[in-house]
Amino acid sequence: MGATAAAGRRIFGRVDRLHHGVAVLGQRVDLVGVPPGTPGTGSASAGRTWSGSRAYGERGNPACIHAKRASVGPDLPRAIMRGMDPTQDKAGSAGGSGLPALPEDWERCLAVAAHPDDIEYGTACAVARWTAQGKQVSYLLATRGEAGIDGLHPDRAAPLREAEERAGARQVGVETVEFLDHRDGVVEYGLGLRREIVRAMRRHRPEIVVSGAFTVRMIGGITNQADHRAVGLAALDAARDAGNRWIFPELADEGLEPWNGIRMVCIAGPEQPTHGVDVTGEPLERGIASLEAHAEYTKALGAGAFEPRPFLTWATGMGGSALGVESAVLFDVHQLIPDGPPPWV
Ligand SMILES: [Zn+2]
Repeated sequence: MGATAAAGRRIFGRVDRLHHGVAVLGQRVDLVGVPPGTPGTGSASAGRTWSGSRAYGERGNPACIHAKRASVGPDLPRAIMRGMDPTQDKAGSAGGSGLPALPEDWERCLAVAAHPDDIEYGTACAVARWTAQGKQVSYLLATRGEAGIDGLHPDRAAPLREAEERAGARQVGVETVEFLDHRDGVVEYGLGLRREIVRAMRRHRPEIVVSGAFTVRMIGGITNQADHRAVGLAALDAARDAGNRWIFPELADEGLEPWNGIRMVCIAGPEQPTHGVDVTGEPLERGIASLEAHAEYTKALGAGAFEPRPFLTWATGMGGSALGVESAVLFDVHQLIPDGPPPWV
């Protein structure tokens, strides 16, 4: 482990204690011994396309697709279950090696996070790239992060952190930032949280959802934070719930029809990333500005905790090495709607 890695462990240890940094953890692939292209890391091609449009599942109720997938059981390799072809390794990589590039043939994204600044530790760089392409990205946060500053009462921290989140979002072209008003630090996974996220999904009608790792350990073996686990898993589950009118039927009474157009749920900070987004250049610069918007919060972390520029440059540089580009943000992609016919046809 070199000096950079050692520094990384120190800084991530701090992240862990302070329960932030969901997104950026996705870049630490070199510290977890998962070289690009390792079998089982899902380094399959995202570039493969089939001539037919989403031929199975009627592009319909995600629960139906789930049933069909489940019916073929766990014998299919993980990558095939995701609608990808593991034999096409590297074909979709942005840089010709390593992980494939995340598909970008979509228009609307909803990013779901637990706290202000979770998105800004890396994912915001990808958001900047997407909004520059003309895509629409909205943020949904479970809390206002009011428990994140030790020396500031939650009543005062909440509006401060909300303001910083909105300012950071604007730096990457995001105008819509919504809060669910859960209490910071004690967010519980459950039907209530899923329902709230479904409600937002049916209003925003995203084609992709971005959220954070919900495993006990994140990339690098770091112990994940409780709110992150609850929100990330609820976001994944809600992406399927959103398309089923018989789950949370009360939402239909609010005029919210099912939305079954979510193709992918992209998880930041996973132990095994499957795809990357090239953020070299301007997207990284915008992402740095987005994190810099959390000035009061990062100041409260103490001197040297997170200098946005060196930190994000370092972190996205690690992601870039996995994607074959200078700077990248990595995700574990759950593909809810396959891009083509089933691989067994
Ligand atoms: Zn957080």
